[in-house]
Amino acid sequence: MNWSELYWQRITPLHLFLWPVSQMLVLFHAIRRALYRHKILIPARLPVPVIVIDGITTKSPVKTPLIIQLVNTLKSAGLRPGIISRGHPDNHHSPMRVSLDKPLHLTGETSLLLTYHLRDTCPVWIGYSRIETAKALLQAHQECNVLICDDGLQDLYLQRDFEAVIVDTSVINSGNGLIMPAGPLRDSFARLGQAHAVILAGHHRQMPDIGKEVRIIRVHQLKEHFFNLSQPGLTANATDLTGKRIHAVVCDPDIQNFLDNLEFLKLTVTPCIFPEDHHFAATDFQSDQAEIILITEEDAVKCLDLHDNRIWVLQQEYRADPGLRETIFKKLREKFMDPKLLDILVCPLCKGPLIYKKDHQELICKADRLAYTIRDGIPVMLEDEARKLADEEEIR
Ligand code: ZN
Repeated sequence: MNWSELYWQRITPLHLFLWPVSQMLVLFHAIRRALYRHKILIPARLPVPVIVIDGITTKSPVKTPLIIQLVNTLKSAGLRPGIISRGHPDNHHSPMRVSLDKPLHLTGETSLLLTYHLRDTCPVWIGYSRIETAKALLQAHQECNVLICDDGLQDLYLQRDFEAVIVDTSVINSGNGLIMPAGPLRDSFARLGQAHAVILAGHHRQMPDIGKEVRIIRVHQLKEHFFNLSQPGLTANATDLTGKRIHAVVCDPDIQNFLDNLEFLKLTVTPCIFPEDHHFAATDFQSDQAEIILITEEDAVKCLDLHDNRIWVLQQEYRADPGLRETIFKKLREKFMDPKLLDILVCPLCKGPLIYKKDHQELICKADRLAYTIRDGIPVMLEDEARKLADEEEIR
């Protein structure tokens, strides 16, 4: 049993000591924010726009699916996103790119899961310092022109152009509603007033009063389905699995949530429970008489090298209201109005410099003789959509 299960789900006599500590932390964060607001502390600015997405609670099941959705949205608009994160909270290492063979104690589950889903289409980098990590990513992937920070709510040294905070009421309601270290909240709800958008997830949709300035975006859960871990292209619905001998393998502390989900899908399963941070090995499943083994996405990244085609992963997909795309793109358009930002963009093909033609709203690569259009304020850095320059067209 870990810390969070013991203290974050209920009120105990120990909270007499934990509660004052959490209030001191809230005060500490408020003072730091004020110092940054009054420019006494100066944040570090990166050359490309930075979008921070983080939860007000330590855990938020909707965060990873939302980041994947955002990456795909940015890419389809012609942008080239990269993701930065601390990785595992205990990661004190210098920046590195996450790949599926990197150890979980450095990457953390989220970074590995993002890498698993996005593969080579969007680089994911982790490191102790988010600024250094971002610089290393931009150095290695010069084509990246927007960064998503998958945590960093309290890391105000990282200047952000857009900040969205997820309020997952199902997590808050399942905890004691107190602030760390007394409960699962990272900060008070007053912190939400400083975000550009608050993303509201969970079944109980009562929203704390955070002022009128902040845009509230709702998240909807799409139909759950399963994908095969060995062949991710292979998917199944609950009805496809009904009647089979199913084992549900799950680690602490996801047990109840996972079993509730499977029960909701009307699946009869035999639960196989392992401790948190269990390192899965093929022997865990060898004596298993199951035809189907179901696991969570969090555990899926621990089972990638098992190559057992009986393993299916429960995938929960969420979709944010279109308002999220609108507010983010409004901010990005403002950023890309700055010619200095257009200056640092490179051709995704040859990584060479581009010439900005303001009149035509185009960015031109001399070497490849391609013109990338700036559509509705956003540079569309897609080779397929670039205009091939005619032989007689001069570039000046
Ligand atoms: Zn080029």
